[in-house]
Amino acid sequence: MESEIKKQKRGSSNITDNSYSKSLQTKQLLENIKEISDKFIKEDINYEICGTFNLDSDNNIIGYSYNPEYKIKEKFGRNSCTYDNIKKLSNKLWHTHPDKYYPSYEDIMFIFNKKREESYIISRYGFFKITFTSYIEDLKYFDKIKINKYLEDFYRCPRTERGRTYDKTAIRKLCKRLYNHINNIIKNKYKMDERFRISFYN
Ligand SMILES: [Zn+2]
Repeated sequence: MESEIKKQKRGSSNITDNSYSKSLQTKQLLENIKEISDKFIKEDINYEICGTFNLDSDNNIIGYSYNPEYKIKEKFGRNSCTYDNIKKLSNKLWHTHPDKYYPSYEDIMFIFNKKREESYIISRYGFFKITFTSYIEDLKYFDKIKINKYLEDFYRCPRTERGRTYDKTAIRKLCKRLYNHINNIIKNKYKMDERFRISFYN
């Protein structure tokens, strides 16, 4: 199944100044996230949508793609989405979280698989950016119980109202705990220099 390709307009490839092109990339990213959010984070859409960002040869984001069958949610089970039918256009992936806006355990482990590099979780309050540029095939050293406990603490924190209300302090705590715990395992068990990163932006 071909994915829909939105907006194939050309990025500014002739700009050489690094700091400027970096901020341009950020601008393009934010514009696309806003469009995705406006399109898919709505009252009547209670299921997740998965997609990728489209890049030009200079790595500028020039649009986004998603599975045009996204409405057939029964197909994917529950309210989650799949990347299976999306044409692989880049290693920058996104999906929406219409309800509970924090990542699931699977969302976190997802980044270690197949050199995915960048994963964005887009919610009504902003987005999580999860990065890891290398990949880990066997996830056996990751502590599922501990990671799920951090996620559960976020859910149980009264200020997040079951993981559905924005709370900066709770988000910071969650990101910090995941960052420390996961990087500790990457460094000590997998003996890798690569760092896992997770941040929330709004
Ligand atoms: Zn998710």
